[in-house]
Amino acid sequence: MTKEMRYGDDYKKLPVYSKNSGEGVEVRPDIYVFTNQIVNLVFIGRPEDNEFVIVDAGMPKRADEIIEAAYERFGEKAKAKAIILTHGHFDHVGSVIELIEEWDAPVYAHPLEMPYLTGESPYPKPDMSVEGGMVAKMSPIFPTNPIDLGDSVQLIPKDGSLPHLPHFKWVHVPGHTPGQIALYRSADRVLISADAIVTTRQEDLTKVLTQRVEISGPPRYLTTDWDAAKLSAQILYELKPDYLISGHGQPVEGEELKEGLERLINNWDELALPDHGRYVDDKD
Ligand SMILES: [Zn+2]
Ligand SMILES: [Zn+2]
Repeated sequence: MTKEMRYGDDYKKLPVYSKNSGEGVEVRPDIYVFTNQIVNLVFIGRPEDNEFVIVDAGMPKRADEIIEAAYERFGEKAKAKAIILTHGHFDHVGSVIELIEEWDAPVYAHPLEMPYLTGESPYPKPDMSVEGGMVAKMSPIFPTNPIDLGDSVQLIPKDGSLPHLPHFKWVHVPGHTPGQIALYRSADRVLISADAIVTTRQEDLTKVLTQRVEISGPPRYLTTDWDAAKLSAQILYELKPDYLISGHGQPVEGEELKEGLERLINNWDELALPDHGRYVDDKD
């Protein structure tokens, strides 16, 4: 490691929880979704192989429980071969430095996300004026300063492939952030959508807490390009996923997923787009 890594100087433990926090669910023999407070990490790999890839890295100051969950699932010889970051928001990179150090794992992200991962540029401030609930209202306390992973973070391959995940492809889904990616495995149509589409309404504290399923657009308070966000959702919809694992909310599959996605895509402006806010033209 040639350069020291550091978190954004506004990173801190945040008092937001869901009822699934600390729990994991196996959605395929080689896919395990672990909820850390309000965000999901995905462990890809079979437990008997003791090796895995991690997609995203949880909330700030939560590394211990994430590492413990990995050893619990993959055994004491467990080793992360790589960490893929869907984007650089604090709730997806919050404990990544400790994970890198634990396993000496390489980290990969999209080129357009690099300024936010190498200490160059902060994200735009969250917009608490969007409607939707308490989480939106408390969003000004969310960290926006960039993490600096130095040269530990590398670019994902241009051809859509992903290191150590031969059956997955990455899909560029900008809007929520410029360089956000989703991961898709066509063989069994598993989609890891990051925050491009989420399965619970992330602005609403009660829904976050109870994890009520509602296929929704990206968290409003942190989404800055709504035209791109709409196109990205459309791209994911056209993949016709059979299993959706999103950055927030429980995994959803089958008919419930199909109906939810159709409803969202056909009513995007009404369901996803804020009526007002810093990053939208007022609808009325
Ligand atoms: Zn995000
Ligand atoms: Zn998120």
